Amino acid sequence: MKTFISSRISDYWLEELKKHLDVDFYDWSQEGLLEPKDFLERAKDSQVIITESDMISDDTLRAAKDLFVIADFRGTVININIDLATELGIVIMNTPGRNADAVADLTIAFMIMAARKVIPAMDALHEGLWAKNGRYWMYTNHQGYDLPGKVVGLIGLGAIGRLVANRLQGFKARVIGYDPFVSKEEAAQFGVELVSQEEVFSQSDFVSLHVPLNENTRDMYGKNELELMKPEAYLINTSRAAVFVENELIEFLQQGKIAGAALDVYHSEPLDTDYPLFNIPNVICTPHIGGATLDVVAHQCEIGVTSLLRFLNG
Ligand code: NAD
Repeated sequence: MKTFISSRISDYWLEELKKHLDVDFYDWSQEGLLEPKDFLERAKDSQVIITESDMISDDTLRAAKDLFVIADFRGTVININIDLATELGIVIMNTPGRNADAVADLTIAFMIMAARKVIPAMDALHEGLWAKNGRYWMYTNHQGYDLPGKVVGLIGLGAIGRLVANRLQGFKARVIGYDPFVSKEEAAQFGVELVSQEEVFSQSDFVSLHVPLNENTRDMYGKNELELMKPEAYLINTSRAAVFVENELIEFLQQGKIAGAALDVYHSEPLDTDYPLFNIPNVICTPHIGGATLDVVAHQCEIGVTSLLRFLNG
């Protein structure tokens, strides 16, 4: 079966696929993403496509007459017109949870960095304020908080939310959460006390978002939810920026009404240096690196290749 691979893939899984399929491999992580027209040209005779970061155009779906399955090595399929693929009889497979550990790790790192004022302390160090103000100035000016005993509120208790909850057991934090599709009993199994969304925002020392972006969640949060937060609380968003009304989030953080925030996702990516939240003290910004670990490649290959081969073997 002619197979075009434009996803990151480890040597082991590439060899595994070559045992079963006639493989043409393009490594975008080394050579850059293909332009849509070049992708179409390269993929149009394939029966199977394995992809990850390309936007698969409708033209490609229509041009690839023999194509019957796309293995999309992503958690959420946002790069393929699913309705058109379904109409054309093309099956789409994804790799749920491929980077859940990576995002959960970053979320915990954000909590500790925020609670321990790591970035302001580093900035002060680089500005020479330690040498200038004496040995204990840093110590007294960057006192933070321990995680044990703090309340962490998780919104969205899917693949990532659960792993964050799981990690927090080790920190002896109290974990509360809101997810309309998870029962109290299920939440309790991974150490989360299910409460209302309002209670998550109003009771937590850290509110961390792990919801999907869809037509129900777009612009779901804004100043009403943020106003519920305690002044000493931190907001963490590693999910999707568009779940917040952008100007309400930015204005709220600029006004310094909570202790701080940590963001990995933005309304318009990539960001340039003029992003309004770059100059706000206590707002940590990372460039959408939640899923950027080498281990994610191993996870997506294992989940994606095994399900694809199972599907092809009937
Ligand atoms: P998931 O689908 O496994 O879980 C999402 C959970 O949110 C589900 O349990 C669902 O019931 C719940 N949910 C849906 N609507 C809700 C609502 N209105 N209120 C509360 N909960 C709601 O998804 P996941 O893999 O855990 O991913 C979570 C988020 O993280 C997604 O937005 C995903 O795009 C994002 N993500 C970001 C990165 C990154 O690099 N920063 C990487 C991977 C995933």
